[in-house]
Amino acid sequence: MPEPIVFVVDVAPADASPPAGGWESTVRRAASGEPIVRGTDLAATRGDGVFETLGVLDGCPQAVDAHFWRLANSAELLELPAPNLEQWRVAMRIAGSALPTDRQGGIKLVLSRGVEGEERSTGWLIATASDDDFANRTEGWKVVTLDRGYRHDLSERAPWLLPGAKTLSYAVNMATLREAARRGADNAVYLSSDGYVMEAPQSSVLLRRGDTLVTPKTDIGILPGTTQLSVFALASQWGLATEDRLVQASDLLDSDGVWLLSSVKLATPITEVDGKPIAVDRELTERLNAALLARRE
Ligand code: PLP
Repeated sequence: MPEPIVFVVDVAPADASPPAGGWESTVRRAASGEPIVRGTDLAATRGDGVFETLGVLDGCPQAVDAHFWRLANSAELLELPAPNLEQWRVAMRIAGSALPTDRQGGIKLVLSRGVEGEERSTGWLIATASDDDFANRTEGWKVVTLDRGYRHDLSERAPWLLPGAKTLSYAVNMATLREAARRGADNAVYLSSDGYVMEAPQSSVLLRRGDTLVTPKTDIGILPGTTQLSVFALASQWGLATEDRLVQASDLLDSDGVWLLSSVKLATPITEVDGKPIAVDRELTERLNAALLARRE
């Protein structure tokens, strides 16, 4: 994997104006291998912070506004100080322009509650040029459904579990991917304990039913996906209907196509669910990925 480039951001409060040197002066490229996080940072000790991962094409970070909306929403859910989005926009531009333009890349934005006792957010960006051949887009993935362990009405019953926030605590998501691999699958789709389709550990779920694209509604304890938003905007241009609703596990088996959607991998068709082959829509897969790859903002 190409070496990631790290940028340290001197995090400003949301209402701060740019300093004399502009927001550019608050973003510093770290030297290769330079330690930039203190051992007492709550991101390191508790996973207490939020993040976003954006796709980058031709040096342009994709769907920045949608990611910034989710970043601000996650920060609010964790009761973190609101991010200064103008500062992060400049930081994002600097990180994007450090990446090569001959292939896809990604930028991870990390916003931590900061060092214990200091009451000041810390933040950084990690820009990575991808060496992935994105075979997922043509070969597709086999998935298993796995129980998420809570009901679809989690947001109402237990908002303190932070449903809908993209927190740094992804150990559970990574453990889910290892469980999927143990079961011979490429990825997993979480089901609520009462049987509804939720999301995958790092992607949203999309289904096609005739001329309608369907995604699970986001108030069931899942993340609002930025790629899913882009796909719905495309679908409207293409004359397809869109719907977000409760999706039953059985819908995965009798749809006209199912995909996992995410910012860097884009649209991956699902070929099997729990060992059963499902309908694969190659044409729409190609069309979706071509349109997502043609975006420059
Ligand atoms: N759901 C989860 C749990 C995720 O981690 C992600 C992305 O990382 C997504 C959905 C898809 O979001 P996006 O399309 O914004 O990448």
